[in-house]
Amino acid sequence: MTAILQLLVLSAIPVVIFALWSEYFKAARALQSDDENESLELEARIRMAGLLTTIAQLFMFMASGSIRHENPTAGLAGLLITLGALVVQAQIQWSLRVSIAKDPAAAREKIRQETSGGGGVFGRALLWASLGALSHFAIVFGFAAGSLLFANWAGVSKAAMLAIVICSTFAGFGSAMILNFALAPLFMRKVLPAEQISDPELIGKIAESFVRAGLKLPDFWLIKGGETRFANAWVAGFTSGRGWFRPGLFLSESLLKSLDSNELRAVVSHEVAHLSLKHLQRRFFTALSFGIGLIFVAAAVSFVIAVKATPPMVGWMGLLGPVLGVVCVFGIMRYLGSQVSRCELEADHHAVAVMGADVEALISALKKLDGINGIPLSGRPPGQASAMSPLTGHPATEKRIELLRRDFPTPREASEDSRKAA
Ligand SMILES: [Zn+2]
Repeated sequence: MTAILQLLVLSAIPVVIFALWSEYFKAARALQSDDENESLELEARIRMAGLLTTIAQLFMFMASGSIRHENPTAGLAGLLITLGALVVQAQIQWSLRVSIAKDPAAAREKIRQETSGGGGVFGRALLWASLGALSHFAIVFGFAAGSLLFANWAGVSKAAMLAIVICSTFAGFGSAMILNFALAPLFMRKVLPAEQISDPELIGKIAESFVRAGLKLPDFWLIKGGETRFANAWVAGFTSGRGWFRPGLFLSESLLKSLDSNELRAVVSHEVAHLSLKHLQRRFFTALSFGIGLIFVAAAVSFVIAVKATPPMVGWMGLLGPVLGVVCVFGIMRYLGSQVSRCELEADHHAVAVMGADVEALISALKKLDGINGIPLSGRPPGQASAMSPLTGHPATEKRIELLRRDFPTPREASEDSRKAA
């Protein structure tokens, strides 16, 4: 009985936080004036919050393993409670979207389409995401179990056995992360409607920037979906990867349709700059060190509980670990987001200063992409992150344009500045 109560408490935490956030969001929204462009931005924020809550819920499920394994009833209850919590979260998310919509009936219809028709893409994404997570755990578990078998076979002391198991768990964690990073291009073209770019003229235009930077060419992928308002470009995978691991440059169809040659060159230069500046590696090592740090904290907490807690306390103190874990994961995501923002600004600078991209073309491309993605350029205080930033980590476009104009003033502006100074 206590086990089920504990599972309920764990699952309820993300649900309650999400419900409170949703109420706050509704209240804050009521105080603001209407703006046609804003609803897309708000929807993006709601989706992001829903995604984070789902991750928190799945994390709670994985963290409650020891409680669920107490007996078969607890195992079944854990599964049902998590599924129930996910359904309640989806309900909160949908009702929030309907309540902020200017046309609630249209919003309801959109949600219905997403959950039935659009379910294909969502289902595929979910399938591949779970496969990725599963393989991650299998690798970590395999390393730990394998080293335990090895230590038993070698007949080493208890202390040596512990050291071997801990080291190989870390090694397993690192290997799983490397595999996930390396397989990111494969993962993306499985989840998204991707198609290899075959137009030689377009390939020539894109390849030029890679050749200029002295980089090996990745695969070029087009993300189909002309009707969706989504325009973006990004690179994935390790530059040295081959076969399944070959890195990819992904360009959305709407991006290719709306940018002219110069703008496309500027955007590709920005992506090449990410590679030249080794931003993916930087992100990978940050994530890896946070992951290992998190394992350390988790191990320390479980150690303290195992040593210090008296039997009736153990169960409830066991909840501390998962709760701490969720807090840490949110903190890490925030930090990673700010790191991504810094990388964006660096890549903008590198694209112009080193790759020779045209400043005006890059600026107009950024503005066009924001326009397609439904993010208003005006009406937001400067410096405030745009709505898409939690999703893509991109800093507000105003900020990027401001820095580009500061670092690369056009000749006319420069001479005006020097006149003013004189
Ligand atoms: Zn970028």
